[in-house]
Amino acid sequence: MFDTIIIGAGFAGAVLAERLATQRQQRILVIDKRQHIGGNCYDRFDDHGVLIHQYGPHLFHTDNKDVFDYLSQFTQWQPYQHEVLAFIDGQKVPVPFNLNSLHSLLPASLADSLELKLIDHFGYGVKVPILELRNVDDKELKFLADFIYEKIFVNYTAKQWGKNPEDISPEVTGRVPVHISRDNRYFQDKYQAIPAQGYARVFQNMLNHPNISVMLNTDFKDVFKLDFDTTKMQFMQSEFTGQLIYTGLIDELFNSHFGELPYRSLAFKFEHLPVDQFQDKTTINYPNDYDFTRITEFKHINQQIVPGTTIVKEFPQAFERDNPKKNIPYYPIFTDENKLKLDRYLAFAEQFENITLVGRLAENRYYDMDDIVARALQVFNDMH
Ligand code: FAD
Ligand code: UDP
Repeated sequence: MFDTIIIGAGFAGAVLAERLATQRQQRILVIDKRQHIGGNCYDRFDDHGVLIHQYGPHLFHTDNKDVFDYLSQFTQWQPYQHEVLAFIDGQKVPVPFNLNSLHSLLPASLADSLELKLIDHFGYGVKVPILELRNVDDKELKFLADFIYEKIFVNYTAKQWGKNPEDISPEVTGRVPVHISRDNRYFQDKYQAIPAQGYARVFQNMLNHPNISVMLNTDFKDVFKLDFDTTKMQFMQSEFTGQLIYTGLIDELFNSHFGELPYRSLAFKFEHLPVDQFQDKTTINYPNDYDFTRITEFKHINQQIVPGTTIVKEFPQAFERDNPKKNIPYYPIFTDENKLKLDRYLAFAEQFENITLVGRLAENRYYDMDDIVARALQVFNDMH
């Protein structure tokens, strides 16, 4: 009945479903174990009429025109430039740490001389990952690097990952580099905007096609069988000879054959408050205080005018497969040891010609939304 079965209705699955249905006239079945489409980008109105992101704040940003143009078929956009403050030593300062943060936190004469040194050493406008800044062979810059490391990174990373910054891939803290500039925005991408009617609507528009069927509340393991020896597949007890596109956990697909890969989970605590505004910016990070990492106030994102406001606090927690409160694998954990295990899975997957792995969980990559849309479009273009 179906040419392609897609596991997962996040961006990876939705882009491929849309492309294969509209450009190749394929009949597609999308399966997701959740009760909604959209994966982790899913948003909805809460009981108070505030548009919330159920799985944490999602801010779209990209330099990739193809991705922006592609998504623009399914939504109009509301311009939005994300800014984040971090609560440090009783003050709220811009993150990524920049020259404004420097001047807020350190005495004027010291900040002035460090600013000149930074510009002299790296150049104005340059972004320097904290782990690189710590390696600089200059006493004053080393002092600054240690200061930023201690105040911004070490405790936040301990909460978020249960690890030191050095013990995870440098790519992770490199996402938030020290920015030698006065630009307080979290991202500098050319296209920064929010879907005007929310993310869920984007997914509805992508999947609303006569060739696409969606099966929710269904774990693929309950309807799909994969024989590792023969590489044959079964869907609902019948042989399936089409293509499987899988966007879930790679270790789960292969029954943890090479051992389980580790993930990090989060608990989101939503609160509705009877005030118009709770905080100045959308997100405030708390590197050194409390057990949560950050608080996001949703009204800032969509500039909604409604009475009251809704915030969410993010509490990082261990991922536990069999615990319904901890079994969402929000982040793969990026360490050298896990990379070795992942490579064994990826090599094993090569022998399954009818299976394509794509997505943050299936490829175990720290993909942002634009990255995964670009990746899914590339996978589609590579298909014959
Ligand atoms: P997902 O969205 O995770 O979709 C995978 C789907 O597969 C899920 O719906 C899941 O239910 C389904 N699935 C898994 N296993 C099974 C199974 N066994 N059976 C059936 N279905 C299954 N990106 C940005 O660009 N900007 C941001 O601001 C941003 N903020 C983020 C904040 C948080 C807290 C997190 C966790 C991520 C954030 N991201 C952000 C990243 C963004 O969420 C991902 O890039 C995107 O969701 C990846 O899409 P995907 O399709 O690969 O995975
Ligand atoms: N980070 C930090 N302090 C901050 C912000 C980020 O230490 O105030 C580190 C932390 O390790 C985090 C990583 O940088 O996991 C990436 O941050 P980002 O905001 O990109 O994380 P995400 O939004 O993907 O959770």
